[in-house]
Amino acid sequence: MTSSKALVLLIGFASAAVAVERFEAVEPHMGTLVRIQLYAADEAAAAAAFRAAFARIEELDAALSDYRPDSELNRLCRARAGVAVRIGADLFTVLEASQKLAEAAGGAFDVTLGPVTHLWREARALRRVPEAGAVRDALARSGYRKLHLDVERRTATLEEPGMQLDVGGIAKGYAADEALAVLARLGIRCALVAMSGDLAIGDAPPGKRGWTVAAGEPARRLELSNTAVSTSGDTEQHLDAGGVRYSHIIDPATGIGLTNAPVVTVVARRGIDADALATAVSVLGDERGRQLVKAYGATVWSEPRP
Ligand code: AMP
Ligand code: MG
Repeated sequence: MTSSKALVLLIGFASAAVAVERFEAVEPHMGTLVRIQLYAADEAAAAAAFRAAFARIEELDAALSDYRPDSELNRLCRARAGVAVRIGADLFTVLEASQKLAEAAGGAFDVTLGPVTHLWREARALRRVPEAGAVRDALARSGYRKLHLDVERRTATLEEPGMQLDVGGIAKGYAADEALAVLARLGIRCALVAMSGDLAIGDAPPGKRGWTVAAGEPARRLELSNTAVSTSGDTEQHLDAGGVRYSHIIDPATGIGLTNAPVVTVVARRGIDADALATAVSVLGDERGRQLVKAYGATVWSEPRP
């Protein structure tokens, strides 16, 4: 989750029809490579836009990361159980969306699974499945109903000691939205922000119907504008043990990483929804997932893991 600076590629492509050029930049943030493509009048405008967008992503990582001990999220987790803590607008927005989805998904999406996700993170490093007792203990410290939000006061309360939040299933989608919004405020509406599998997409490139995006596995080619698309099931993050592949997505009902998880792709108006829904549908499966996505006015497809 560190954001070692740089690796900025500036690539300009002349666009014949209009007086804008395409630029692209890549930086590491939030444990992944963030790629931004945009159309701007000149290189100076593009460079300023990239700086502002990446700075916004960095600001969000500082608030939302569960890897960084000093993040706002981890400070909240260290507060005394039962005490309402006033939190920033970004953390509140992400937790509020998470709790709404947790309700709608019958608990399949749960950002209080931190004790369990951290156990599996360790398990991936050690290459062995966590002990049943440890999973039980971690699950006992989880449960979205133990996280309380107060919209008026903008506070969060963790009901029990030992709770840990993990917004890894929703934060990248939100960060993509926010980076795109920063670009729009600078007058750059024709842009695409890709946080690995989580994309936020603005206006179509000049003369095009949309941005050509390859999403899902096997990849489908889509032409999209003013929307977001997320694919869950990061094939790099899993544990192979005893002939079973455990996903980094946890079934909150069991505390166990999903096995035979499909690759789920969701298209929604906002990245915050697309990201979280893709994770939730992975847990819920096809039929219940489809109903949930419909209730959000989004679309979904899933492919069995190749
Ligand atoms: P994604 O790649 O968006 O599907 O999110 C996966 C990440 O979300 C994991 O690495 C965990 O940090 C977190 N996570 C795992 N299981 C769940 C779950 N059931 N609900 C919410 N977040 C989860
Ligand atoms: Mg997700």
